[in-house]
Amino acid sequence: MSNQLFKDIFFKIVIFANCYLFFGFVITFILFGIFFFFKYYYLCYATLKTNDWLNETSNLKAPRFDGYISKLIISIYKKKKFDQELSQQHSQSFHKFEKLSKSIPDGIALINQENALIWCNSSAERLLSLDLKLDRYKKINYIIRNEEFVSYIKNPSHDKPHRINLKDKDSIKNLEVQVIPYETDQILLIISDVTNLVVAEKERKEFLSDISHELNTPLTIIQGYVETIKDFEYQDSFVTKAINHIHNQSIRMSKLINDIALVNKIEYAKKLNLELIKPCEVLEKVLDEIVPVYNKKKWSSEIEFKSSFSADKEDLICIFSNLINNSIKYTDTSGEIKVSLLKTSNGFIFKVVDDGIGIAKENIKKITNRFYREDQSRSSNTGGSGLGLSIVKKILEKYNAKLEVKSDLGKGSQFMIIFPL
Ligand code: ADP
Repeated sequence: MSNQLFKDIFFKIVIFANCYLFFGFVITFILFGIFFFFKYYYLCYATLKTNDWLNETSNLKAPRFDGYISKLIISIYKKKKFDQELSQQHSQSFHKFEKLSKSIPDGIALINQENALIWCNSSAERLLSLDLKLDRYKKINYIIRNEEFVSYIKNPSHDKPHRINLKDKDSIKNLEVQVIPYETDQILLIISDVTNLVVAEKERKEFLSDISHELNTPLTIIQGYVETIKDFEYQDSFVTKAINHIHNQSIRMSKLINDIALVNKIEYAKKLNLELIKPCEVLEKVLDEIVPVYNKKKWSSEIEFKSSFSADKEDLICIFSNLINNSIKYTDTSGEIKVSLLKTSNGFIFKVVDDGIGIAKENIKKITNRFYREDQSRSSNTGGSGLGLSIVKKILEKYNAKLEVKSDLGKGSQFMIIFPL
């Protein structure tokens, strides 16, 4: 009996324990479920709120959450604050730059590899008749319909600015455009308005051309009279001397006037009158005219370069005759002059060597300056104007040619012009 009772009690305890465990498990499971559900909901809510806050760039007020999310938010907050300060600094710098670029009178424009406009300042908008808001990212040849400008942008020379004329409603603007390489795939354009300068240059050119013409007329009359009275016989030797002096100086003055007119012409000549010519033929012609007149000198010539060259014939005549005439002027009557036209790997060289009076080493670099004369008396004797070599130098710029001079005072000089083809 007691055994049976013991069994019953034991059985009931086991059932009760099982039930207790079962319900315990179920309740624990439900409680965990509820806990994780709220945790998950809280996490989603916190993530969404943080996301909204992140998307609001100007709002720095961070949402408040507990636990490890708050640590994350603090880090994001710091980063966001730093980014906001940085962007404020950037926008302040940009505004400053925009203000600065507006106050620059020259136009500045940024163009990419595809020749599309990236940015420009207000002066560039005004000078090139652009509107940045409308024209940004458009190709420059669609915005500026000027062949000269577009071809310069495509094939720029970086060393000196290029002048273009741009039509602006009913007037023409003269602009100087300079391309500056900027980064690897962009170019910077600097545009200056040189309209006033061009007008002043034109007036100067016209003035010089008028003045040389006006001076030539009375001078020709004076020369005519002097030529006539020069051959008369005078009792007073002073009169003969004075007339000869007037005669020489009038010739010199006439050369000066002609040279000034020539410098003026070369300086403002816009386009080269290019044709394919053989420099050897031009040189032979120049020598044919000069050598018989100065036949007491010892002449020698070497013509090796016989190919053609694209040049203005007048320019070549001017260069050749200037250097040869200088050698004639600055050597003795029986001096030696060697003229040569030599081949080089990428062009040719024109060389004149003489055994004349030479030039002092320290003065060699000055001889191409306008009106420079090594010694005033030289030019009075030779009738030189001091303009010949400056004219030559100006012409050489058009051909990217270079003049090299070697000279020894009292021994002679070598003038060499290197022409690239
Ligand atoms: P100029 O008309 O006076 O000859 P240039 O410009 O041709 O003017 O020459 C400038 C100066 O250079 C001359 O005054 C002369 O002193 C010097 N010069 C030029 N060529 C020679 C030369 N072959 N030998 C010596 N001096 C020279």
